[in-house]
Amino acid sequence: MGIDCMSDAQAATTEHYDTIIVGAGISGIGSAYHLQHQCPDRSFLILEGLESFSGTWLTHKYPGIRSDSDLYTFGYRFKPWTGTPIATAKEILKYIGEVIEENHLGPHIRYQHWINTASWSSEDQLWTIRCERRDTSETVVLTCNFLWMCQGYYRHSEGYTPDWEGMDDFEGEIVHPQTWPEDLDYKGKRVVVIGSGATTATIVPAIAGDCEHVTVVQRSPTYFIPGRNENPLADQLRLLEIDEHWIHEIVRRQVLYFQNEFTRHCEEQPEAAKEELIRGVRQYLPEDYDMDTHFTPKYRPWQQRVAFVPDGDIFKGISEGKAGMVTDEIDRFTPAGILLKSGMELEADIILTATGFNLCVLGDIEFSVDGKPIDFSNTVTYRGMMFTGVPNMVWIFGYFRASWTLRVDLIGDFVCRLLNHMRDKGVRSVVPVLRPEDQDMPRLNWIDPDNFNPNYLLRSMDLLPKRGTSREWQHTQDYWREKDEFPKIDLDDQVFKYG
Ligand SMILES: Cc1cc2nc3c(=O)[nH]c(=O)nc-3n(C[C@H](O)[C@H](O)[C@H](O)COP(=O)(O)OP(=O)(O)OC[C@H]3O[C@@H](n4cnc5c(N)ncnc54)[C@H](O)[C@@H]3O)c2cc1C
Repeated sequence: MGIDCMSDAQAATTEHYDTIIVGAGISGIGSAYHLQHQCPDRSFLILEGLESFSGTWLTHKYPGIRSDSDLYTFGYRFKPWTGTPIATAKEILKYIGEVIEENHLGPHIRYQHWINTASWSSEDQLWTIRCERRDTSETVVLTCNFLWMCQGYYRHSEGYTPDWEGMDDFEGEIVHPQTWPEDLDYKGKRVVVIGSGATTATIVPAIAGDCEHVTVVQRSPTYFIPGRNENPLADQLRLLEIDEHWIHEIVRRQVLYFQNEFTRHCEEQPEAAKEELIRGVRQYLPEDYDMDTHFTPKYRPWQQRVAFVPDGDIFKGISEGKAGMVTDEIDRFTPAGILLKSGMELEADIILTATGFNLCVLGDIEFSVDGKPIDFSNTVTYRGMMFTGVPNMVWIFGYFRASWTLRVDLIGDFVCRLLNHMRDKGVRSVVPVLRPEDQDMPRLNWIDPDNFNPNYLLRSMDLLPKRGTSREWQHTQDYWREKDEFPKIDLDDQVFKYG
């Protein structure tokens, strides 16, 4: 009998864990650390579809790949970061690898296990997970009480490329940075990069010196924060031989303090913030540079993630004539390059589509509860981490305006507290439910587009869970309040229905 025909009773005889963590990226490894330290009596397993750990930092292999937020806050609160604030993928991989090694997490991870389905049985109070082994094509079935979803927010297999007319006619190479061919030869080539987000800001300075020329085509401008890739406070504390754990904590607080100030400034005085951000970029460009066209965004600061640009390197490339900006719309691809709506044609040997991600909801896993498929867009999120009608499951969706990982630590504490509470209460399941006062609450999109509106979210908003009108039913994106709210969540509130 094929494994897919197995009944839940038969599946229950398969390997069982108290908790299964999905994904061995920075979220999954951080969550495992918290589980191991705060719930030491619980068995757990991490299932990862790729061949190794660190997710985003393993998948992305384009030249220059680096973080766009500082590692004092993108790093975990429990492991000091000792390098420069902005780190390369290689450095982040090493950091996550050390966390795995120092905490003996290796034996808890199964790589090449791609999860296809997750089915909850109320009768057995268990999740049954079916995965396909990418190396052997074998089907593996496991069960667990609790599912900790750390699968990120975008599809790792391929990035998002719009469907432009004439793409098949283009005689050069079209490459999405997410699937960068290791042997891509861009030396001496004319390269056009579509899009002007953090990826472009990373790739352009990394390749410009080797290319004949790099042209960035953007539909509309983006905000950047150029600055030196250093933290003088950290350097000074190191000079004083302060313990690295202290330095990590102090610098985190400093970074978070300034980020909070900046976020508030953007909300309260958007025009002033806009002018300051543009001024920051202007200082790297020639005096007569057309800032209005290329570096004056139409949206308010922080409606999209603002990328930090170490040492203003992309702007230096523009100043030196190695790279250029074109702000226009693409009409179509041609055999020689790209025809713009203005009529200008950009000739290229290679076109890089730095056009973003395909958002994926919960790892493209088919979820069901008691045989009924779950459509997450019909659920309401509890604080952006749990979902009405979905028992024993939590999702880590980090912050955009602060480092993603800050939420890994916060949710880690919350889940461990919840699991320990359930053990003490002698219950086996928990599901968030709308209380009587929440029943008539409007169901809104996952994120308010007026507050935060990156294209990959706008494109897929209909797939995401709904949010309500009170903070409990929202992913507020507000680390500064959540850090105080989460530890105080009353686990006996009516929101949590135990079974
Ligand atoms: C180039 C780039 C730079 C970034 N820089 C920053 C930054 O500086 N600061 C910041 O805060 N954020 C940054 N981000 C956002 C970043 O993705 C997150 O901060 C963070 O790395 C996400 O970690 P994660 O573990 O949640 O998800 P991921 O890194 O996406 O890892 C998820 C893992 O889950 C696995 N998985 C998914 N579905 C399944 C399945 N069905 N079965 C088995 N395994 C599965 C994947 O294979 C993957 O390994 C960046 C993103 C990109 C793409």
